[in-house]
Amino acid sequence: MEIIHGIHELRGRMVNCYLVVNNDEIMLIDTGLPGNSSKIIKYVETILKQSPHDIKTIIITHNHFDHVGSLSKIKEITGAKVAIHSADADYIRGKEKHVGGAFMNVIIKLLKALYGTKPVEPEILLKDGDLIGGYQVIHTPGHSPGSICLYNPENKVIFVGDNLQYTKGKLQSPGERLILEPEKYDASMRKLLDIDFEIILTGHTAPVLSGGKELMKDFVKDLNIN
Ligand SMILES: [Zn+2]
Ligand SMILES: [Zn+2]
Repeated sequence: MEIIHGIHELRGRMVNCYLVVNNDEIMLIDTGLPGNSSKIIKYVETILKQSPHDIKTIIITHNHFDHVGSLSKIKEITGAKVAIHSADADYIRGKEKHVGGAFMNVIIKLLKALYGTKPVEPEILLKDGDLIGGYQVIHTPGHSPGSICLYNPENKVIFVGDNLQYTKGKLQSPGERLILEPEKYDASMRKLLDIDFEIILTGHTAPVLSGGKELMKDFVKDLNIN
């Protein structure tokens, strides 16, 4: 569904993907688990009434499997360029193992085999301060080394990936277990106070449609106590 003008949220199995429509060009943010590609393509064709080839860029907020599981498939169908922060690129190239316990690694291996998930060579390596499709790249390591946020000062939207969740009217971290580098994570979240945003779009939860910056201030205050 269209959340705000030009931004569509697609709720996959537990994971959110976003389609950002700019004239005829579409930018896809995250791809969801394996098996999500047909849902995305169908949305583009039936709701947006556009061609899958209009997806020109796929931006990955971070390397975790629930965000890149359908990447190779969607890239194959659309021919889109893939953009990811350089610190997370080796994971989608298949050179680094996705983080998770032994059990999770077995599941990932099975899903990859089942859906024919392939390694992907990204065309665009992102770094802090880059501009892509009108969005500024903010490097926010902590949840993963190459986690990014994408911020647009015009519509005051920020995509935060798994950095933040919005539950019970509050912003929350992804949870201690899912923060690989806590000090970096805290610094990354404080960095977000330097920018002026209103709408927060997350990787797994409902969106914050107004007052995002105020919620962020409260969230960071709690970080200081811990
Ligand atoms: Zn994640
Ligand atoms: Zn996730």
